[in-house]
Amino acid sequence: METSKTALITGASRGIGRAISDAFATSGYRVVGTATTATGAAALQAGLGGDHLGMVLDVSDKDSIQAFCSELGEAGITPSVLINNAGITRDNLLLRMKDEEWEQVIQTNLSAVFHLCRHFIRPMIKARFGRIINIGSVVGASGNAGQANYAAAKAGLTGFTRSLAQEVANRNVTVNAIAPGMIDTDMTRALTDAQREQMIARIPAARLGRVEEIAGLAVYLASDLAGYITGETVHINGGMYMA
Ligand code: NAP
Repeated sequence: METSKTALITGASRGIGRAISDAFATSGYRVVGTATTATGAAALQAGLGGDHLGMVLDVSDKDSIQAFCSELGEAGITPSVLINNAGITRDNLLLRMKDEEWEQVIQTNLSAVFHLCRHFIRPMIKARFGRIINIGSVVGASGNAGQANYAAAKAGLTGFTRSLAQEVANRNVTVNAIAPGMIDTDMTRALTDAQREQMIARIPAARLGRVEEIAGLAVYLASDLAGYITGETVHINGGMYMA
């Protein structure tokens, strides 16, 4: 049991982020989870209970990141675990992809990770302990037609993870990524039935993954036992892609 450690999880109001928040709360961490709206943050805080916190954060907005970091600092909260989970898709074939679709996905899924890591890595280095876990995607390795923006952001995350891992490994700070395949969340519920069936046909396990299956690995990567794993991208995809 990891006691008295704080885990900060972005995009914790739904899906994978919510499951990760629940798993860390159950494992004895104090959880600070974020949502993009005050209503979402309040619902998250009520759902987690205890002294866990739901806070507002829009990771695509630098001012929001700055305000959030200041608020945490003023409250004297220093996360020893940072899970960069917030993410969006804006799918389109490249020929039709709008500037905004490219920029929103890169800002939310990649630039935000840079800003949050740069802020929270300093106290981790000082404390000689930290765990950063970035949520990537199988398409960062495999590519996917219609997702050049998303795949570029997620592939970028892998290089970022490896580089930062090398910078801080000797301070007992690990930096890893988890690359889920098709997981049952709002993101995949947005697909049509035909698209889902097509996807499932490509998965040897013949089913979507469960959010708890991602959360379990996140808790392990944050634990003391995982202290020698760094710079890795761990794929969880039912055999859909074997890196
Ligand atoms: P989801 O169900 O769509 O939930 C997305 C979460 O991100 C929500 O909590 C949402 O907050 C938050 N979010 C969205 N835009 C944000 C922003 N600008 N600032 C801060 N938070 C924001 O997604 P999910 O399926 O759980 O995905 C979570 C992560 O896993 C993402 O990084 C995604 O790319 C990755 N992933 C998912 C799958 C999959 O099959 N589901 C596969 C591979 C990778 P609100 O509730 O406030 O909107």
